[in-house]
Amino acid sequence: MVKLCNNMQDIGFKSQKEEIKFKLKNDKYRRKRGGEAHFIDIYCINCNNFLLKYQKDGKGTLQRCYLNRIFYPQYLERLQYNPKIKGYKDLPNLICQSCNTVIGTPMLHHDGRLAFKLRKGLYFKKRVF
Ligand SMILES: [Zn+2]
Repeated sequence: MVKLCNNMQDIGFKSQKEEIKFKLKNDKYRRKRGGEAHFIDIYCINCNNFLLKYQKDGKGTLQRCYLNRIFYPQYLERLQYNPKIKGYKDLPNLICQSCNTVIGTPMLHHDGRLAFKLRKGLYFKKRVF
């Protein structure tokens, strides 16, 4: 039986090396992209530091990270629930915690979702199977 981490406090106590099972979200945003979804891990290209775990919907190229598709780490996952964040101007940049490279900048997508617009060439990603 796979343990699903819906309780985000739970995740905070686990080390990054320990494997955590996440459950893909299935909602209108995913359906709008054709229903296919998978996880990717995103890393800093400068220092190879892990940045975040992300649910990619659909087949297109990755251009931005919507807040409601970030699963880990906790401080990024929590942004979507932060009542103080009302618009993209309330969001910080997406910064590598290891080398301080700015990987993404806040934006509002036309579907109403807040996101980080990723800066090309500053990250690499691995598909999680
Ligand atoms: Zn880095």
